[in-house]
This record gives sequence, C-alpha cells and structure tokens, in this order.
Amino acid sequence: MFTLRSRRTRAGLLCLGVASALALSACSTTDTTQTEAAADDSVAVAAAESSAGTVTREITANDFPVNVVESTHPAKDAPAEGELRVTLLGTGSPVPSTERFGFSILIQAGDMNYMVDAGRGAVVRLTQAGIEAGQLDGLILTHYHSDHVLSIDDLWMTGYVPAFGGRDDGDFMVYGPEGVGTIVDNLYAAFENDRQVRDADGELDIETTGIGWEEFSEEGVVLENDGLEVTMFDVQHDPANVILPSQGYRIDYGEHSVLISGDTIPHPNVVEYGTNVDLLIHEVAAFEDPDVLPQVISHHTTPEQAGEIFRDADPEMAVYTHFVNGIPGKVDGISDEEMIARTKENFDGDVVLGEDLMVFSITDDGIEMLDQQALSER
Ligand SMILES: [Zn+2]
Ligand SMILES: [Zn+2]
Repeated sequence: MFTLRSRRTRAGLLCLGVASALALSACSTTDTTQTEAAADDSVAVAAAESSAGTVTREITANDFPVNVVESTHPAKDAPAEGELRVTLLGTGSPVPSTERFGFSILIQAGDMNYMVDAGRGAVVRLTQAGIEAGQLDGLILTHYHSDHVLSIDDLWMTGYVPAFGGRDDGDFMVYGPEGVGTIVDNLYAAFENDRQVRDADGELDIETTGIGWEEFSEEGVVLENDGLEVTMFDVQHDPANVILPSQGYRIDYGEHSVLISGDTIPHPNVVEYGTNVDLLIHEVAAFEDPDVLPQVISHHTTPEQAGEIFRDADPEMAVYTHFVNGIPGKVDGISDEEMIARTKENFDGDVVLGEDLMVFSITDDGIEMLDQQALSER
C-alpha cells in the first residue's frame, strides 16, 4: 500500500500531476510545498531534498497510486492451464448506475486478456479486477450503441500511460463488425493532443500509443489466438432490424465455451451457436408494467423469452447480464425473485443474475462461480 499526498500551503497549484513513467518530480518550489508520503515495507520510496529545496521522489510505475488498493479479485491471477475464465465487468444498460456499470465482459485464457464491449466505466471495473488497461490483448465489439463503446478511448489511452501498464507490444486492437474502423479512426483523430503532449513531455514513446482495428465481415470464426477461438454470429436488436450491425459471440478454448448474446430480441442463432455451451450469457429486459416504454422492451429479450432460449440451448449454466430493469425514479423494474420466476416459466434449470465483477471459472471440473460473497470467504 502506498499513499502520496503533495500540497502547497500557500499559493500555487497542486502539482502532483501527470508524471514521467519512472520518475516523479514533485512540486519544486521551496517552503510553499509540503509533502507527505506513507508507504509500507513492500514499497521503496526514495525522497531526497536538494540544496535548492527541491523535493524529488522516485517511484516506479507500479508504485503509482492506482495500486493504493491492491485487487484481491481472482481475475488478477492468470488462469490455470486449460481454464477459460469469464468476468462480468459491467452488467448494466445505458442507465447511469454505480451498481451496474456499462456492459463489458473480460475473457481470460492462458496469458490472454480480451474484453467484449466497453461500456461506461469499463476501465474502472477492469482495474478492480486487477488487470491494467495496458494488459489487454484486444477489445471485441458486438454493436455500436453508446452503452457498449463509451470506454474504447479510455481503455486505449489509459492503457498506453506507463503508470497503468503501458503498452509496448503494438497497437491496442479493436475488433468488430462493419463500422469499427470509422469509430477507431475518428477516436484516433479526436485524441491526437493527448498522444502528442505525453510524447513532448517525455512521458512515453509515441510509438506505444497506437490503436488499430480489424473489421469482421461475416459470421464464423473471426479470431484465433493461442487456442482461443472467437466465433461471430448475427442477432437482431429490433423488430425492424434497422440497428445494424448487431452481433453475438461464442468463445471456445479447448473443450470450454461461453456464448455472449449481445443486445438482441429472441434469435435462433443464440440457440444454434449456444447449444450445450458451458456458459450462456444472455441480455434481459423487464419492467413492472409491461406496457410502459414498449419501444425499449421490443428491442430486448424478456425473462420468459430467455427461458425458452435457455431451455432449447441447454447450457451448463445460464446467466443474465445487460439488465434493462426499470429506470430509477421513472419506471419500476421487477424483483430478482420475479425475474427468476418468469424465466422458470419456460426453463427448469437455474439462472444466475449476473453482478459486476462476478467470475465464472470454466475447467475440466466444471464451472466455479465466484461472486463478491464467495471472494470474501476465500
Ligand atoms: Zn444496444
Ligand atoms: Zn446495450
């Protein structure tokens, strides 16, 4: 644990700001600066006061205050050999929520870390899970509604800051159906200043700040890396099928598999690609009054409909995420019990109501589910 506070007692700016990767020069005026540092034995902080009164302390990138709270989340440890691990980073919808962040899922196998979608706050949840943005091997997108793409820029730019992992092995890669190139190219242009000033400031090598993209043109296996296989399939987000593209993904690693429905109304491809999958992760939508906001409900899958899909696909474990369940202060949602009961009208198995940072570890021994309660009892 490491904390560092730097402040000026009289005029002047708080000057603990963006710093170079390996050396942080704290505020450099004379008696107007007071600095406090506290560190435990595991962190070496060298502080020296020069004759001119300049306080310089050297810290490594890993000592930067991002690690003030060290993650105990299982995602921070690499998966075991053969394990496919899935972490629900954000289980929400466009509703701004502190409980359910924007939609995002972390997929880990071997030493690989991929994310599917990047909703609001994804980099915060990723950090809580113990993975630095710079450790991501790629981001895979289902469609381009804002609640799935809001954090592309955050993951990319936070990921190239050396203090947060840095990126020295090529561009941050964003994968998706038609349109991903337009988004990435425009983000690259929009944030040109950040790359340039960090380079001019000596903080990083601009060669490490790239972002790349690869567009998937049709259904089928779209990505293969070290035994991890990603298959894309079409889904349908709205009755008129105008929200295009809209994709789901199945990810296989050895004998283990997970399907992510994407945002969709009930679609036969989810059953076709998801039959006998280990983990079937489906979106869900329900309001207490089914007649309120019909436009919203018509673009998603109700618990009763999802129950039919789970029944037909028969996964080892069925999980809900992307909860469209009321709008705080405006539209009432339904209770957890009712969501489960409505699902069970058509499905006699269990359904897990996903939560942010919930983990599913898929191995030859089956699926181990670790929520925050299980973690605290470890
Ligand atoms: Zn959507
Ligand atoms: Zn969505």
